[in-house]
Order: sequence, then structure tokens, then C-alpha cells
Amino acid sequence: MQPPTTPGPHFASDVDHDVRTTDALLQHAGLVRNLRGSAAGVTRRVRPERAAQKMLSKAELYEPAPAPIVVPNGVHWIPVPGWHPSGRGRSSWLWNGFSTRKGGVSRAYCADDAQGELNLGFTAADDREAVSKNRRLMAEAVTGHAGTPLITIRQIHSNVLVRATAGDAGRERPRKADGIMTDEPGLLLAVQTADCIPVLVADRKRRAVAAFHAGWRGTVKRIVEIGIGRMRLEFGSKPEDLIAAIGPGIGACCYAVGEELLSSFQSQFDYAADLFHEVYDSDPIRTKYPMLFLTQRAPGHSPIGPSLHLDLVEANRRQLLAAGLKPNAIQSIGGCTSCQSDLFFSHRTSHGHAGRMMSVIGIKPR
Ligand SMILES: [Zn+2]
Repeated sequence: MQPPTTPGPHFASDVDHDVRTTDALLQHAGLVRNLRGSAAGVTRRVRPERAAQKMLSKAELYEPAPAPIVVPNGVHWIPVPGWHPSGRGRSSWLWNGFSTRKGGVSRAYCADDAQGELNLGFTAADDREAVSKNRRLMAEAVTGHAGTPLITIRQIHSNVLVRATAGDAGRERPRKADGIMTDEPGLLLAVQTADCIPVLVADRKRRAVAAFHAGWRGTVKRIVEIGIGRMRLEFGSKPEDLIAAIGPGIGACCYAVGEELLSSFQSQFDYAADLFHEVYDSDPIRTKYPMLFLTQRAPGHSPIGPSLHLDLVEANRRQLLAAGLKPNAIQSIGGCTSCQSDLFFSHRTSHGHAGRMMSVIGIKPR
């Protein structure tokens, strides 16, 4: 198992010493702009074309996940806050939640002496029987019944959508798609991720549900925005009746990308600039004195400069808004698969050797 990544290479006392030394040097040189501990010249949310002014540390962008609940079968999972099926609220008709890597019987991605894990994807490295067992545990955790039909899709980073029926439950090979929806009770729809962003949507009036898988490719192809359009067609959903939850994925804190992604997003979205940040490693001296580290080179191309980070959660929130959902109907659960690699599988952090989490949604049978 990967150790959790914690920002900063130093102990606190070393950090204080380094900062004090730098303070003294700069003061001596007459270069001090700000001695109050906040970063000199830093502003949040500056557009990439004014990249030099927009510098954030990883810590500023990190949003931890809520603590998982642990059920008697050992599965640690995260229900959408306010959507828990045992609650009496307007969402009591919904099954929903996000898995973690904790619980389960997989041995493929953990140390020999560690407990089994909840890999829910039929990955090459894992034992098929262990994954099947884990899927039954996850279905049991969320619905109370290990035999609840779990409908998956074969994800291809597209904007292809499918409408699931009970007939899909017995399907040998899942259909290729990155979004799945239904209005049939008793089915648990699932998307699988290990850094990509899962999005769950429910129509409170028409009682329909959907799950979307949004990596950067699917996000550029507007999987979520197109998916909501499809819900309108299939179920007559009205955007104002929809609620949505964006689950754990790789956070803007950790998702360093190349400049070609900025170009891709700029070609598609007029708000693309809001989705990218320039991020320094959480070096306290760089955080306090970012102007010392500016270079003339393009973002992402400087050995000491910032790297360009993409905020996929915000990108998908913007698509939900563009599709007509109300801002207060959209929840971002938080959680960074890379920062919290003890809790989540992260494809990037484990260099491709990772299990898969599931994000699930369904309509409880009456
Ligand atoms: Zn992170």
C-alpha cells in the first residue's frame, strides 16, 4: 500500500528556520515585500494568460474527503451527504455512494501483511473471484443485499451514454459507454474510477438516476452536459429537479497536466481559464516568496517554475451548471485520490498499478 503523501519535505522546525533565513536575506537585500506570513504578490484565481500572478500551493487546493462509514461486512464507503437511503429526506428513495479501497478481499494492490482491499474493477493484476466477491460486498454495503444487480459499463473516455434495464444485469460483457442511466428500481448503476471524476445525478421528480465517468477526455467531450441532455430526452427530466454529487478523484492539488490540455479545454469552453491553476510544490519559501521563482518560460515548462494543474471537479461542476442545475443542487464530496492514496486507489500515484473504486446510484424498490 502506498504511504499517504504529505506535503513538504521538512520538519516544522527546519521550515521555520529556512523561512527565517530567507526573510533575513531578503530584508538585507532590500527586497522584502511582505513579512506577515502571507505570500507576497499572490492572488487566487488569476487567468492563465496572466499566469505569473496566479500561484497556489498544493495545500491550498486540497479538499479532503468526508470520513467513510464502515458497515458490518467491513466495507468503508462514503454516502453522498444528505442522500443517505436510511435518512428520511427527499432522497430516501435513492441508493448512492462512493467506495474506498478499504474493506474487501483483494490482495493485488496491498502489502502481503495488510488486510484485503476493495478493488471493484476486473483489472489484469487482480483475481476475478476476489473482485466478484468485493462487488457483492459493495452492493450489500449500499443496498443491504449482496445480490442487488450491479450494472457496469466498459468505459472508453467517450461521451457515449446508455440506458440500463433489468436485461443488462445478466449481460456477459458490459456495454461500452461513459454514462449510464435508468428509471427502473432495483438496479445499482456503477462507474469505475481510480483518479477520474465520478458524477452521480438523480431526478427527484421523475425518479431517474445516472452515473458518469469523467476523465479529462470525457470532460472535454462534455460527457456530463450531454448526459443531462439525454436524461431530459429519456425521462423528461427538468434540470431544476436534478441533484448531483461529484465524487473523489485526482484533485487540482495533484493533477499536473501538459499545456496541450489547456489548449483542448480553451477550444471547447469559454470558462477554460477558470479550470487551470499554476501550482508550486508546497515549499514554504516559494509559497511566501513566489516572485523569487518567476520565470519567463511558459507554465509547466520551467524546472523551478509552477506546474499547470487541471481542476476536473470544477470542470464537471461547470457542466452541471451549464446543463441547468442549480448551484445548491450540486455537491462536491471532496477527496483527492493522489493525496489520500491510503483511502483511495490512484492510477497516477501508483504508476498504473491500481485497483478501481465504484461510484454507485440506484432507485430503491418500493
Ligand atoms: Zn491531491
